Amino acid sequence: MNAILHQICRDCAPLSALGAVANYIPELAKADPEKFGICLYTGGGNANFAGDFLERFTMQSIVKPLILLQALLDSGEDAVRNLVGVEATGKPFDAFNYSDQALTGAHINPMINTGAIALCTLIHGDTYEERFCRLLELARQLSGNPELGVDEAVYHSEKATGNKNRALAYMLKAYGMIHDPVEDIVDCYFRACSIRVNCVELANIAFLFANHGRDFRSGQQLFPAKHARYVNAILATCGMYDGSGEFALRVGFPAKSGVGGGILGVVPGRMGIGVFSPALDKKGNSVAGIRALELLSQELNLSIY
Ligand code: GLU
Repeated sequence: MNAILHQICRDCAPLSALGAVANYIPELAKADPEKFGICLYTGGGNANFAGDFLERFTMQSIVKPLILLQALLDSGEDAVRNLVGVEATGKPFDAFNYSDQALTGAHINPMINTGAIALCTLIHGDTYEERFCRLLELARQLSGNPELGVDEAVYHSEKATGNKNRALAYMLKAYGMIHDPVEDIVDCYFRACSIRVNCVELANIAFLFANHGRDFRSGQQLFPAKHARYVNAILATCGMYDGSGEFALRVGFPAKSGVGGGILGVVPGRMGIGVFSPALDKKGNSVAGIRALELLSQELNLSIY
């Protein structure tokens, strides 16, 4: 397996030249596009890795499955379903557009910013600071690193420039979908996006979703299997932004990317994968990361379809 990963590393790392690091959050523009790392957990929890697998980067949208899981744990499936839908487009089959329609939960899903921002309101806690701390605890538990923390520079950079996310949150508020102060909610979201991980920690999180919540080390059920199925299904249909269909064809398993360059890959019952390369394609997905997952999927026959 290590030989396969090293070959993938050699083949894919140069592909970063075809993409560009995110710069709409100024601090992210400092990422080194040459970095490439991959880690995967299989079977009884054997880890394999190659490249810059210990390099740290911010989770960004990869935290969305964790926001969804925490909302499911705290408020239950009905509350989550009532607030945020599960459809990739949220549009009827013959829609031209629905830009003048009132926004409802049916139009959004947990893997886009509006959905994730709305779901922060279903995480329990007296303050949004407390809600974020609970989410960070979940990330620490699932990643296997109790020291996981926030990249303060990225957090402040996003907070200073994240007006589009504020606008989305105000839209949710205008349509009565959220009620708390927008600044508190988006602060929780910005902090969550700024949690720093490496490929090993991502693979750990992914492996738990692959094993439906059961920790291979302790044999403990860390979260209910039905929540893992919920999250994995949404990742399969919506996890790679508007590149999710293409990803399903080329790679074929649930995954979530983030604009920090990471991708979390979940091969149900088989494998958890963390891959990182910060240069992104036009849709915001890591160019080399997607190709690495595609090669791995071909090599090991990982497509679930
Ligand atoms: N923090 C980023 C934002 O909301 C996350 C986006 C992403 O990774 O897709 O703009």
